[in-house]
Amino acid sequence: MALFMPLVCSETWRKIFPLRWLAAITAFSLLSLMPSKAGAESRWSQGVFPIVQFQGYTSHFGPRAGFSGAGELHTGLDIAAPLGSPVLSWWSGEVVEMINDRACGLGLVMASGDYAHIYCHLQKRFVALGQRVLGGQRLGSVGVTGRTSGPHLHWGIRYRGQWLNPDDILRAMVKHKKTARSFGP
Ligand SMILES: [Zn+2]
Repeated sequence: MALFMPLVCSETWRKIFPLRWLAAITAFSLLSLMPSKAGAESRWSQGVFPIVQFQGYTSHFGPRAGFSGAGELHTGLDIAAPLGSPVLSWWSGEVVEMINDRACGLGLVMASGDYAHIYCHLQKRFVALGQRVLGGQRLGSVGVTGRTSGPHLHWGIRYRGQWLNPDDILRAMVKHKKTARSFGP
């Protein structure tokens, strides 16, 4: 009996082992597909703050009372800056959309992998549709075009179609001390 037991155990182990190995591989590949918060934070820390002459935040991300008084979701962060001062690209990527409408005014959308970032209320644009742009490259200048009461940048970021809170990204940048020279008041 004492001789028989180890045989059973090793036999059972041989049967289970390949399954365990497979389970471990599957779990690992699923994990690597899911964006972890820590992973996202360390990536975000390499971004560039889009404003050079920072004057303050005038509106944060989230629900707010709209111009008409009705509730609306503010899908970005409003950063006040002097009229005509530079607006930089948060990340390297491609200019995928040029905007000129009543809400955004003169604006553009950049695509960087699974991320899309939008810049609104510009005075001038210095890039063209389809152009490849580096992180920190000048996209345009701060303006008062579209629905705005003063010169500021509306900056929004989407990840796979979902709006992110730019505050989270800025916090990651501060945490990793990789902010642009001019960041902060
Ligand atoms: Zn805004």
